Amino acid sequence: MHEVALMTEAVRLAVEAARAAGAQRVTALRLRVGALSGAAPEAMEFAWDVVRRGTLLADARLEIERVPAVGWCPSCRVEFDTTGCWSECPRCQEPAGELRRGRELEIASMELE
Ligand SMILES: [Zn+2]
Repeated sequence: MHEVALMTEAVRLAVEAARAAGAQRVTALRLRVGALSGAAPEAMEFAWDVVRRGTLLADARLEIERVPAVGWCPSCRVEFDTTGCWSECPRCQEPAGELRRGRELEIASMELE
């Protein structure tokens, strides 16, 4: 379950940022998780209950913003929904060159007190 490691790291980064800002505690942590990031939001929420104990985030609220995967076709210059890294452009049927969104795994924002 690598979500435990992910959440441990997220809490560590949040504590560091809170200390740097001179905050007493973190009241909310918002994470951005892409559909193709490899992390399962359900497992992250489960891990969250354990890893925040005894930290500045002990009473914080966790919000997970799910980012759907979006591909980009440079020929047609269109964005389209996709479910994987290798999908075709719905207009020209060419394999999509780029994944625009969907791999995010980051702290979007946090609230400090
Ligand atoms: Zn295209």
